Amino acid sequence: MFERKITRQIHIGNVAIGGGAPISVQSMCNTKTTDTKATVAQIKALQNAGCDIVRVAVPDMEAAQNLGNIIKEINIPLVADIHFDYKLALEAIKQGISALRLNPGNIGGEEKVRAVVKAAKKAHIPIRIGVNAGSLDKKILAKYGEVTPEALVESAMQHVKILEDLDFHDLKISLKAHDVPLTLAAYRLMSKTVDYPLHLGITEAGTVNTGIIKSAVGIGALLSEGIGDTFRISLTGDPVVEVKVANEILKSLGLKEYGPTLVACPTCGRTSIDLPAIAAQVEKKLEGIQDPIDVAVMGCVVNGPGEARGADVGIAGGNGEGLIFRKGEIIRKVPEDKLVEELFKEIDAILEERKNN
Ligand code: SF4
Repeated sequence: MFERKITRQIHIGNVAIGGGAPISVQSMCNTKTTDTKATVAQIKALQNAGCDIVRVAVPDMEAAQNLGNIIKEINIPLVADIHFDYKLALEAIKQGISALRLNPGNIGGEEKVRAVVKAAKKAHIPIRIGVNAGSLDKKILAKYGEVTPEALVESAMQHVKILEDLDFHDLKISLKAHDVPLTLAAYRLMSKTVDYPLHLGITEAGTVNTGIIKSAVGIGALLSEGIGDTFRISLTGDPVVEVKVANEILKSLGLKEYGPTLVACPTCGRTSIDLPAIAAQVEKKLEGIQDPIDVAVMGCVVNGPGEARGADVGIAGGNGEGLIFRKGEIIRKVPEDKLVEELFKEIDAILEERKNN
């Protein structure tokens, strides 16, 4: 539906980014990278939630040296997040990391960058240049007087130039800010400036309540303009929620088919069942399903089936009894207390029919 800007394609492990590849979802562990068990468990939970690429912080050599132990236990590309110390990048590459997040201008000079680039080229490891509004280069900040889209792009381009001068083009770029209009303007400008793939994000977006809204508005707007090849939702809290939100954004824009989509009516004076409780129950039970299926939970039999005609299957609550419907067509009446159970029988039947067709 949206015409996507075609960028150069890079690969992080077996995940293609840019060049028309599906938009990939990323997240970042909040465990200690030295804690193999906790980190592996979180990576697996993220993958089960629909994450394509996971990043871990590599603050010191102990963390870098533990990357191999984590990689042995997982089957999803892992990115090492490194600041300032090029030796950590070299160790991460040695440990079998799939990509680096590192700004070449911040690792202490040309020789060190050269060493990292040489190792990254040899191992086919892409590098993400990530500029954050909060840590913008002081000279650029002085030049522009404040953080502007142009300042963010100029900062990123300085890092890009360092890599391009070493004939390294296996890179992607992020320009994150917590201010949504600033982020939008920066990515739009960057998208016009280069054809490297772009990694979208609204950084420090906030808690689940506000962060989801800011991320959905910012990232959703860019994706709807065809900008962005991969993204992370940054939330203060469980990263599994980040992945669920990311997939919902992609699904809502028709950019990904992943798992069930729940449609629920807002309720009105015609509703005579506890619809919020039923919708929550259905949402919870749907978490166990990976296949795409549209499920509706509607408050009344008068308008429910018609309003949710687009759904594969749904229920409409009445008074003492309700309806099961498929694509708006009523299948049967069931007692109200059996609505959810009967809905899931129908969902199982649909998924079975699809397998057999
Ligand atoms: Fe009201 Fe029925 Fe529409 Fe729900 S489906 S909002 S209960 S009219």
